[in-house]
Amino acid sequence: MDKNKEVWFVTGSQHLYGDDALREVAAHSKEIVAYLDEHAVCRIVWKETVTTSEGIAAVMRDANACRNCIGIITWMHTFSPSKMWINGLSILNKPVLHLHTQYNEKLPYESIDMDFMNLNQSARGDREHGFIYACMRKRRKVVVGYWKDSETIDSINVWIRAAIGFDISRSLKVCRFGDNMRSVAVTDGNKVSAQIKFGWTVDYYGIGDLVEEINAVSDEQVEKLFDEYKEKYEIVTDNIDSIKEQAKYEIALEKFLNDRDAESFTTNFEDLHGLRQLPGLAAQRLMGKGYGFGAEGDWKTAAMTRIMKAMSDNKSTAFMEDYTYNLEKGNEMILGAHMLEVCPTVAEGSIRIDVQPLGIGGKEPPARMLFDAKSGSAVAVSLIDLGDRFRIIAAEVESMKALQKMPNLPVAGVMWEPMPDFKSGVKARLLAGGAHHTVLSYELTTEHIADFARMADIECVIIDKNTDISKFENELMIGDIVWSRR
Ligand code: MN
Repeated sequence: MDKNKEVWFVTGSQHLYGDDALREVAAHSKEIVAYLDEHAVCRIVWKETVTTSEGIAAVMRDANACRNCIGIITWMHTFSPSKMWINGLSILNKPVLHLHTQYNEKLPYESIDMDFMNLNQSARGDREHGFIYACMRKRRKVVVGYWKDSETIDSINVWIRAAIGFDISRSLKVCRFGDNMRSVAVTDGNKVSAQIKFGWTVDYYGIGDLVEEINAVSDEQVEKLFDEYKEKYEIVTDNIDSIKEQAKYEIALEKFLNDRDAESFTTNFEDLHGLRQLPGLAAQRLMGKGYGFGAEGDWKTAAMTRIMKAMSDNKSTAFMEDYTYNLEKGNEMILGAHMLEVCPTVAEGSIRIDVQPLGIGGKEPPARMLFDAKSGSAVAVSLIDLGDRFRIIAAEVESMKALQKMPNLPVAGVMWEPMPDFKSGVKARLLAGGAHHTVLSYELTTEHIADFARMADIECVIIDKNTDISKFENELMIGDIVWSRR
């Protein structure tokens, strides 16, 4: 829960109903805000009821300028003529949620009169408000329901988590150690467009700069960190030297990133000049601490890993790759893994450290953590650059225990079945161009990702239990027209 960040709650009205009515509007909205603040994952801050074009523009200007404000919620208790909102909404550059609620849950059947009707007319007022958003093509989340209802609160919290991710995104720095893997298309993309769209600074660093940092790590620092490993994990190898080499990488990488205010990084096994091993355990440890990571120079997934870790409080959210299949009829499943770098936040049970050969890259066998992954519903997210735009693909998956033990699997792995079923889920991913690299999160849902995509104003395609392939294919074709015109 990030109580440093805040969402502003702006209630709209007008002067037509007199000062007594406005006092009641303010009292009601304060009560709603107090309740939401208690139940939300960031602070909800009450703002004076707005009743004029000047007042609305002023609160929007303040929201834009406030570093801690990550978005605004608007709600019309009464009727607020929406021509007054045009000026303010046209300058607002923070995410918006239009909350369509009503102060009273039930109609007061016995006592309802014209005074009550004048005061409690969100049903009218929010329609006027929705119209101006639609007219201005202002993208916003609409949440409908009584303000104390848990579904309403949950939906607001999903949006707040997306806004926390979007806020991090605007100033995110990604260190690229080496370029992306030679000739690979999907991990590449336009870094200038990404900075304009998402705010990411994606800078290259020569591997020699990191090697220098690694060489500066003292034996004492390594021993101290190794003691921590011994305490937390089961060490199942005699190759202690390899584990200590990774400890050195962890210390050096973390310092390198912190010195540059970077929260995310990439490696590439093709570009390790001066390193004895590919960072494996080191990358896993840093992901466990909340840093973003992308292998093979995949800076887009590195950034999304960091963002989704921020959205999920770094719970059960990992860099992942669709690796290999079980295609046995009736038990079709995907085995997700990576050659080393699977984040321990998705681990279930104890974690072992082992050293095994990598098979590619021509370096020493690296140390890595091994574990079984959790079962449960998750979302697998891939961000791709189609040349003229970014597309985010969010797929619902059901993760489960492996049908049998895999005693020789040298990496941590996750088994899952894509929704709506194996064939349709995989087909949809292929049609959409979803990459082999994803961010897998058990904490987040497609709703979080759709909310984030709306904030960043990018195309979002969802693959879930309702996906129908023929409609999905059409949706992609329609998306091509829509997004090429924006
Ligand atoms: Mn990979």
